[in-house]
Amino acid sequence: MKLKPDVRSINFKTFVYFVLFAGTLMLLLWALQVLFLNNFYGIMKSSQTKTVASELQHSYLHKDQENFFLDISNLSRSYDLNIYVITYSGGLPILVYTTPGDDIRDDYSTAIQSLYGQIREDGIGSAELDQTSGTMPKKMFAYASVLNQAGCGDDYEDAVVLYVFSPLRPVTSTVKIMTTILIYVTIISLILACILSLYLSTRITRPIRKITRSAERLAHGEYGVVFKGGHYTEINNLADTLNSASIGLEKSDLMQKDLIANVSHDLRTPLTMIRSYAEMIRDISGENPEKRDQHLQVIIDESDRLNNLVEDLLTVSRLQSGKLSLEQEEFSLTDTVSAIVSTYDIMADQGYRFTVDCPLDFIVYGDRDKIRQVVTNLMTNAIKFCGNDRLISVSLKKRGRAVRFSVEDHGPGIAAEDLDHIWERYYRSSSNMVRSAEGSGLGLSIVKEILTLHKASFGADSTLGQGSTFWFEMDIVRAEKLTEEDNPNG
Ligand code: ADP
Repeated sequence: MKLKPDVRSINFKTFVYFVLFAGTLMLLLWALQVLFLNNFYGIMKSSQTKTVASELQHSYLHKDQENFFLDISNLSRSYDLNIYVITYSGGLPILVYTTPGDDIRDDYSTAIQSLYGQIREDGIGSAELDQTSGTMPKKMFAYASVLNQAGCGDDYEDAVVLYVFSPLRPVTSTVKIMTTILIYVTIISLILACILSLYLSTRITRPIRKITRSAERLAHGEYGVVFKGGHYTEINNLADTLNSASIGLEKSDLMQKDLIANVSHDLRTPLTMIRSYAEMIRDISGENPEKRDQHLQVIIDESDRLNNLVEDLLTVSRLQSGKLSLEQEEFSLTDTVSAIVSTYDIMADQGYRFTVDCPLDFIVYGDRDKIRQVVTNLMTNAIKFCGNDRLISVSLKKRGRAVRFSVEDHGPGIAAEDLDHIWERYYRSSSNMVRSAEGSGLGLSIVKEILTLHKASFGADSTLGQGSTFWFEMDIVRAEKLTEEDNPNG
């Protein structure tokens, strides 16, 4: 059993964060409630006293004396205040109101004198004293306000002054109770933080652990594993991504194996042919020039096939390693296409017919050799899958600011479910009956890579049993009229 916790684990970190959070919250509460309670209480009391004074000021100005006194009595009772109203005449005090059953205590009268002195000195119509001032009784806040501000003269000699005394009750006992409560709250919240962090982190880590185990199985080549998510969108997304990665891996692994099988087959067939025909020349046809030439031609054709296959493999490997860069220039797509189509002229003997529909000389910007390869690959496929009529129609048409090259055949076509995949490496659609040795399954993936590098759009439209049209589009730099000798139709 591991005793040392993994400090980088989600479990440990969630636990620490939760405990820290709960701890900070508790500390704040302690600080606010216990340490500052005294200050809060003092501030609250002073603001309450001032509010009462302003209410009474209002009552003095707008109500008759009886109601004014009634207000004083009510407010002093509800807020636990001692209230006095003193009228001054030429500076001499006459007590006109005191809280019922209350005579001015000696210590209050010193405070009253001090407050009145302050009012006269400051000239702002109000004054206050708290327990820090020497003239104040302990644990007391006092506030004085001149009620007849308008008619009392500048030196407040004939003022009517309201005195409000608010006792500050000791909060020590309250603080003690609060401390006990807070100790309980702290313990409970820390326990809750632990439980919650454990619960949360387990809910997060359990699916991650499962995913890790599945990934380990995948790493050992078990492609069928399913990654299961959990209760969280992020983990579900991760599981989904890994599931599709696993499917992709399985597919690519299958394709790689397929490729090796195909390539070895593709290599073996021409090699066997070359060897057998070489033997035939040595043993049989060496003396017969006609036969010998025929056999030599087979050897040459098969070597070409080998060459093409190796060429394709090299291009794919260069594309895969990202080493293929474009050497772009302006060139005539019309010329390039016509030149390629004319190389197939010799196939007319075998019944192949090629039509080219191209109204203008389209100048485009791109890598001429690579585009030539694209056109060749698409043409080769069209010939390979051309159907009984052996008719292949090539066209270059203006579409907006682009020119669309398309090559159409009337062959077996491609099933809709295969259509998205034919551009993948090593993919061969199941719907055509061409033997695997006819192609490496690399042609269209090369086309796709080159056109993607050119940022050109491309695609294939096909109906099963009726034929296919492969196309790509490139931006036109300019389009010129064709001269008589250029005319590919001519
Ligand atoms: P291959 O060398 O096998 O032709 P490609 O990458 O050129 O490889 O083509 C991939 C697959 O797409 C082919 O095996 C074939 O199934 C399908 N395909 C390509 N072009 C055509 C077409 N013109 N008509 C029907 N199927 C086609």
